[in-house]
Amino acid sequence: MTLLPAIRYRFMKDIGAPAAMRFAKMGKKRPARPPDPLFAPPLAATRRLKELISRHYFLSRYTRGAMPVAWVTSGAPVEILRPFGYYTLYPENHSALCGAQKVGGRMCAHAEEHGYSPDLCSYARIDLGHALTGNTPVGRLPRPDLLFASNNICQTVLYWYKILAARYGIPLILFDTPYRFADAEGGPDLEYMVGQMEAIIQQLEGISGRRFDREAFSRTIDLAKETSLLWGRVLATMKARPAPMTIFDAFAHMLPIVSLRGLESARGYYRLLLEELEERAERGVGAIREERKRLMWDNIAIWPRMREHANLFASHGMAFVTATYTNAWAETTPLLDPGRPLESLAKAYSCVILNHHLEHRLKLMERLIREYRVDGLVIHSARSCKPYSVGQYDIKRLLLERLSIPSVVIEADIADERAYAEEQTRTRLEAFFEALEEE
Ligand code: SF4
Repeated sequence: MTLLPAIRYRFMKDIGAPAAMRFAKMGKKRPARPPDPLFAPPLAATRRLKELISRHYFLSRYTRGAMPVAWVTSGAPVEILRPFGYYTLYPENHSALCGAQKVGGRMCAHAEEHGYSPDLCSYARIDLGHALTGNTPVGRLPRPDLLFASNNICQTVLYWYKILAARYGIPLILFDTPYRFADAEGGPDLEYMVGQMEAIIQQLEGISGRRFDREAFSRTIDLAKETSLLWGRVLATMKARPAPMTIFDAFAHMLPIVSLRGLESARGYYRLLLEELEERAERGVGAIREERKRLMWDNIAIWPRMREHANLFASHGMAFVTATYTNAWAETTPLLDPGRPLESLAKAYSCVILNHHLEHRLKLMERLIREYRVDGLVIHSARSCKPYSVGQYDIKRLLLERLSIPSVVIEADIADERAYAEEQTRTRLEAFFEALEEE
């Protein structure tokens, strides 16, 4: 860290960013909207969320020379980086943001023009499109000093990050998680992962020139655990009938648990959100005005169609109350243990849904269906995400057999708005709504 950039960063953090946020708010003042016939008033916490996201990307522009920057995959055990003082950014999150702003297709096209296949995950194509052109709706992303990936979500990230490492000439650290074919814990797989973590710590000490602070590490695990537990409680508020938020809200509120895990700002944010949701649930305020049926979502969101889908489902009285995707950041949390940090991190990160056999996913879905009193399931077969989409037709059949849960499959993409068949999707959904109403 050099002095001037460090002073500049501190100044922007304490004075520049808050002033910029205030200024942006002043510029955006609009007359109050009339009440929405489909939805309850927006959650007040959403304003804070927007600030948090803007601040996160805004401050990242001032990191150069002040602190090292790491680009991290969503499933990597980021807690191990925190004591080294990295500013962390998540390309997957940035790609989702591009998808939500409907610029994903354009950024994917840049990557495709350079030879990347349209069959490659759109998160990767958007990020590669950004690496090739520098285009991003967030202004500018800082150049990374380090890449940190785990293949617990897919193998794509490994090849994608290797390309980035070569392009930027920077180190790539990989945390390799053996696939869990069974539920048994411990054994050689666990030893292998703990051994890797010890090696990663040594590697980070070498790269950063800093000694690993074990106390700070334990504190980070503690903080990450508490934050994930809070996120689990936020999701659990949707067990109330009517649910005080829907999964479309939850998708938007995921950023802190994915990108700011292990930081105080994420914990503070979920305390605020939880308080508001619990208060809504207590008063019987539902996120949609008329909740007739309760649904579960499987797979990652279709980011470019969020608003449209939220309106469509709400207009039919259908509330999404749970999703395998949002649950992923709450599911393995109880395994985190600051007293056994490396072992517990290895367990928590290797047990994630995409690194686990299909029967595990099925049991998880059965539990969510019962706990959240779900009437039907919407399965997003995502063109981008093969590990998430594989086996979905078997899951559909088995859930119908075991729990009589009707479902519909919609084929789309997570962030590339070009891969969406409007008519076909609408026809399938309309038929599904009718079938549910007849139940
Ligand atoms: S969306 Fe799927 S394929 Fe793409 S990075 Fe995530 S897990 Fe991997």
